[in-house]
Amino acid sequence: MVIGGFHPFTLSDFPGHVAAIVFTQGCSMRCPYCHNKHLWALQAEHGEIDEEHIVTVLDKRSKRLQGVVITGGEPTLQQELVRFATRVKAMGLRVKIDTNGLCPEKLRELILAGVVDYIAMDIKAPWEKYSIVCGTEINTTRIQTSIDCIVGSGLPHHFRTTWYRQMLNDSDMEELRRTMVPPSSPYVVQKCIM
Ligand code: SF4
Repeated sequence: MVIGGFHPFTLSDFPGHVAAIVFTQGCSMRCPYCHNKHLWALQAEHGEIDEEHIVTVLDKRSKRLQGVVITGGEPTLQQELVRFATRVKAMGLRVKIDTNGLCPEKLRELILAGVVDYIAMDIKAPWEKYSIVCGTEINTTRIQTSIDCIVGSGLPHHFRTTWYRQMLNDSDMEELRRTMVPPSSPYVVQKCIM
């Protein structure tokens, strides 16, 4: 795992859980409103955080923590994500994955391995604006496959959209909600603070 950041404590990022946050390095999108641009490159500019250090901290705090959020960047870019999530689970902690949905294969791998307890996925924009809002060419079939994979998993999850008003108007949001968000799934709209 290439890890670019770590927060030992959050009450707000894993619904119903006291958690730590691991930020993986590297992202497959270039959203203009991104707050984690320092995590875009696959290699950390100022050095990685050693996985063993994080595991030691998690182990020490495991009685006070209930879970770990693995976010990014984009966690599904990590070759060793399943191994790391397995390690976290072995400490008795639950795992939440935040994803942009571009790698349905890795999501399926996590789900089949039984090492993820909660998934939060961004739905960035209506299909026709997806690549524009993500700042790079997006294969939207992969996004739809991830949505289907998450819903089909039966795991607790939610979908969310950061409402970037410079690119998404009211009718875009209405279309997105009507045509892309699975009707039975929790859905959150986040204000874009820049
Ligand atoms: S997917 Fe997330 S981490 Fe990647 S560029 Fe967009 S907002 Fe930033």
